[in-house]
Amino acid sequence: MIARYAVPVEAPVPGGATNAYVLGDDERLLVDPAARTPDLDDPANEVDHVAVTHTHPDHVDAVADYAAESDATVWAHATFAERFADAAGVEPDRLFRPGGTIADTGVSVMAMPGHAPDHVAFVADDEAVTGDLVFAAGSVFVGTPDGDVRTYLASLRRLLARDFDTLYPGHGDSIENPDERIRETYFHRRDRERRVRAAVESGAETVDEILDVAYEKALGDARSLATKVVRAHLQKLALEGHVEWDGERARSPADQQ
Ligand SMILES: [Zn+2]
Repeated sequence: MIARYAVPVEAPVPGGATNAYVLGDDERLLVDPAARTPDLDDPANEVDHVAVTHTHPDHVDAVADYAAESDATVWAHATFAERFADAAGVEPDRLFRPGGTIADTGVSVMAMPGHAPDHVAFVADDEAVTGDLVFAAGSVFVGTPDGDVRTYLASLRRLLARDFDTLYPGHGDSIENPDERIRETYFHRRDRERRVRAAVESGAETVDEILDVAYEKALGDARSLATKVVRAHLQKLALEGHVEWDGERARSPADQQ
């Protein structure tokens, strides 16, 4: 069983809300409580475990509250326990590792880095709670400093390969056509990468110059976020040897000029 609770948040996210989820039947796992809500506070929703898909504020802010209010066991990614404690304001009781399960909930964990390094998905049978990996509409922010386009694309490929029936994202509606949406999201990101690379090859050097060439529409308020996305793409392209990037200026590698 996976139940969704839309929790209004201040962050500029799709739908203006983060989805908290309760998974499991006998033992129940609460995922991504961004804030307290009457629905989540309902005694009928008492949970045994709490965890987050990743430690951004719009996913962790009520973890400490629910940990204090209930006897729920607080779980964190073993590799990122300190990051979790800093973000959530509470020390984890137990640590999970990707591939493992959350106690007796029947829920298993898949590493899904990209949007954030500590990002995971929680899997219950043929369904998964996937946080900020893919949305029913629009694209996920993958930008510096937390975002990594290489690992993000790899995560999307692994998610696709699992062939889930339904995905439950961190924001917006459930995804009933995972195959189609994952492919769209993947190719959107690859298309963005091609545009950034072509901009560099055409002589754009600074992030601002690359933005002006690689983004078709005027960005307005979204420009500072787009700057971080371009930086994340440049990091990937540099790692792969397609551009030279020193953090300030990008150029085509000497042997391609
Ligand atoms: Zn989010």
